[in-house]
Amino acid sequence: MSSFPKELEGLIEELARFPGVGRRSAERIAFYLLKMGDEEVDTLAKKIVEVHKNIRPCKFCNNFSIKEVCSICSNPKRRRDIICIVEEPKDVIAIEKTSQYDGLYYVLLGAISPLEGVGPENLNIKKLLDRFRSGEIKEVIISTDPDNEGELTAQFIIEKISPFGVKIYRIGIGIPFGTQIEYIDSATLGRAISERKLIDTRS
Ligand SMILES: [Zn+2]
Repeated sequence: MSSFPKELEGLIEELARFPGVGRRSAERIAFYLLKMGDEEVDTLAKKIVEVHKNIRPCKFCNNFSIKEVCSICSNPKRRRDIICIVEEPKDVIAIEKTSQYDGLYYVLLGAISPLEGVGPENLNIKKLLDRFRSGEIKEVIISTDPDNEGELTAQFIIEKISPFGVKIYRIGIGIPFGTQIEYIDSATLGRAISERKLIDTRS
């Protein structure tokens, strides 16, 4: 049993729920917070509330946005007939940095992961399928991570969208298996986008 005061223990437990933060790191963060000045802690707390209140998923693509529709979806210069499907908002940032893509995005906010109990039914694709039904999309680039979860997710999406008869591409060239989109350097990722490979769904 921990002998920390109840309030401190409560904070540590909350911090330990963050991704990648275990009990040890949670304790370190909590102790650091205790050492911070009142004003600093106040600013941090306000920032958390502000971000939580003002940043929301875009109505169309789920990307982080301060408005109902994000800056990419509302940009008239972007092509509206091509859509790039990614797992997380940080993947949008990585692909935007390559300057090799001028279409729209769809952020899944996750990937299928049997190990973590995330099945196809948990994947957020209803809004995506609605967009295919509207007929505006002619091409898709599936840019989920080149790892087991990303591949499972890509296969599932291909199954769901192939009836719409659009051209389906998978990002891939030069990307080693097991990496994550956000960690690939811009030059390699840019090439992977521009040299995407067409997937034959007729079989
Ligand atoms: Zn958007």
